[in-house]
Amino acid sequence: PLGTAFGAITSVNAALGALGRIQEIIELPTESANDREIAPLAGVSPDELRALLATDDSALEFDDVHFAYALNDSDEADPANESVDEHQPEGNVTDRQPVLHGVSFAAPRGKRTALVGPSGAGKSTILALIERFYDPSVGVVRLAGLDIRGLSRTELRAQIGYVEQDAPVLAGTLRENLKLATPDASDEECERVLRAVNLGEVLERNPLGLGAPVGEDGVMLSGGERQRLAIARALLAAPPILLLDESTSSLDGVNEQMMRAAIDAVAEGRTLIVIAHRLSTVVDSDQIVVLDHGEVVGVGTHSELVQSTPLYKELAKHQLLV
Ligand code: ATP
Repeated sequence: PLGTAFGAITSVNAALGALGRIQEIIELPTESANDREIAPLAGVSPDELRALLATDDSALEFDDVHFAYALNDSDEADPANESVDEHQPEGNVTDRQPVLHGVSFAAPRGKRTALVGPSGAGKSTILALIERFYDPSVGVVRLAGLDIRGLSRTELRAQIGYVEQDAPVLAGTLRENLKLATPDASDEECERVLRAVNLGEVLERNPLGLGAPVGEDGVMLSGGERQRLAIARALLAAPPILLLDESTSSLDGVNEQMMRAAIDAVAEGRTLIVIAHRLSTVVDSDQIVVLDHGEVVGVGTHSELVQSTPLYKELAKHQLLV
């Protein structure tokens, strides 16, 4: 009986420890709790916002945006909260690592904008600010002319699709992977988007079609195919704006061509912002924004930038052998 009692005490202690950790998680601030909206857009419904996006020429705009990551964890847990003061000079930001220094550019509606630049230049940070994972320290990000801090994250993200780098494939069927964000999508729609990104072949080679298991225990997909699956998933949701952090996976010639075709499919009729790790995928973009050390050092088409921007010319020389 004594042994049983000691066993019970140990179990209770372990359970109390776990309970404490669960409580810590419950008490973590949620994004919406931090959502200090500085300019609530009274009366702008998601439908009206979508309508604005369909007519405003500048879909997305960065206006003199400065940003610094918090260097300690407690600041990190509350990313959007401290930075709502538009007039807070960057110099006053202590314990922070400045990453963007006065970034300005506009992504025109329905066009393809590529972000290029060396590693650490700030490309992913720009996408993180568009998604409002963080807010700028200084400056404004606008969606259809509206300061995005005036939109709830839910409203904002309903307009923006995000295909991350090396997107994970969940263990499940192709269908389940596709319908994560759009559970009502029909099989026909699923097949259409798969074919649009050149994954029709995965359907054909598998007798179970959309019911084919993928991931660890199913059809293995290459890095490029995984990202095309993520692009297909984003296509199903049909957002007016799509952010794409191009996969860094090395692609052979055929796969690279398929990726370019997938990006073309996804660009059709929407504003696309692509972080490009390979210039070959973006040379025909409507606009390329060149970043270096958190600053925009050039904006233009491929042929304009080769003439005007030494850093771009250098990147092109290495990657495209011009
Ligand atoms: P890459 O091409 O390597 O992905 P990038 O141009 O996307 O680079 P970012 O990822 O935006 O660059 O990083 C810009 C700078 O910000 C880098 O110095 C990076 O170390 C820093 N950084 C990025 N994320 C964080 C974070 N969560 N906390 C602190 N610093 C960060």
